[in-house]
Amino acid sequence: MIDVLSTKNLLLLTIDCLGADKFWNLPSGGLDCLHRLETLGVTFRRAFATTSSTTPSIASILTGEYPFVHGIQSTRGWSLSPRVIPLAEYLKTIGYKTYAYASGPLREETRLNRGFDEFVYVEPLHRIGMFRWGLQLSRMRRNTALLWKFLETHVAIGGPWFQWIHLLDLHDRWRKHRRRVTYASEYEHALEDLDKKLSKLFGYIDFDHTIVVVCGDHGHFVRALDHRRMPNIPYREAHGFHVYDVLTRVPLLMINRGVLPEGANVDHCVQTIDVLPTLLGMLHVPPDHPLPGIDLVSALPQSSRDATAAHGRQLYLQACGSILKSPENYLHGIRNEFWKYCEPMGSSPGRGPELYRLADDPEEQHNVYEDYREVAAEMREAMAKCLGRNGSGVCHEA
Ligand SMILES: [Zn+2]
Repeated sequence: MIDVLSTKNLLLLTIDCLGADKFWNLPSGGLDCLHRLETLGVTFRRAFATTSSTTPSIASILTGEYPFVHGIQSTRGWSLSPRVIPLAEYLKTIGYKTYAYASGPLREETRLNRGFDEFVYVEPLHRIGMFRWGLQLSRMRRNTALLWKFLETHVAIGGPWFQWIHLLDLHDRWRKHRRRVTYASEYEHALEDLDKKLSKLFGYIDFDHTIVVVCGDHGHFVRALDHRRMPNIPYREAHGFHVYDVLTRVPLLMINRGVLPEGANVDHCVQTIDVLPTLLGMLHVPPDHPLPGIDLVSALPQSSRDATAAHGRQLYLQACGSILKSPENYLHGIRNEFWKYCEPMGSSPGRGPELYRLADDPEEQHNVYEDYREVAAEMREAMAKCLGRNGSGVCHEA
């Protein structure tokens, strides 16, 4: 059992649809709260989700495993494998009180509620049958009031506690006022509103006694913002349809005062499966079995730990959104610092392998598979190694 007086609380905040490109390059700027958090801890500037869809991506954050191990292969209709141990179950064994505030597809049927003493689920607004503005507005207020009550109740109860909060505000864009759109997109308005909400949320948090992790679950293509650099995407707004960086690269911030440096940046490629081993390392909890991710403390500048694990990584990625309609159309691939390779998981007609040379083509607009067949073969082999790992070892370059 842990020393409850010296052990820190843990807040994990996941923000739906918050991609790294929007976080750092939004034309309107102005994310005061989120960017202030960067000054309090470590920012991983090249972090990647495991999938471009909510449920499997969140499951990877909470278990440290890829979808082919944790068992949630798409947004709806899947549940967590009994063979994996989610973060909340680890923390229960060392005496934490555990609370979750979730929404979207993250219902109890997914079994992502495992290990939580209390699992508050709020209905996403876009799933409510009636779309009258007044009704949605009242639901939005109700959901927000539930969030403040959730925080007040569980922060006040004393620690150590673990709270996971998943915010759907970039999906649920029901606004207090029907303001004239001054930005290029409603997404920007929603992000601005979310940042204000986060200022209040973090007002509840004592950073000296709380480890804080903030990350997106996946990115989001918004034509009004992205069409110039990605003109061939056939959607107005979407995610889950590919493994492009715009859909898989997410902000990842970690704050642990007195332990992690403040205002530090890490530029190595890391992945959200690293969150769980990093937190277990900070809390001195050994994992029950070998995990594919790494303890990110090893990736910090001038880390005294072995930093080699952070270099040369091959990150497995999957596109399995309901937008693809059938598993036949799912894609998976692998990414390193220089290349991204992907191929269909099924027999999707008219779709072949894709290879992108990221240094020359960061928007992944030019498939160079035919020009670099040998690179593609190496990437495919690395992906097969990841898939065959079966629970041990980190994916490294061959
Ligand atoms: Zn999501």
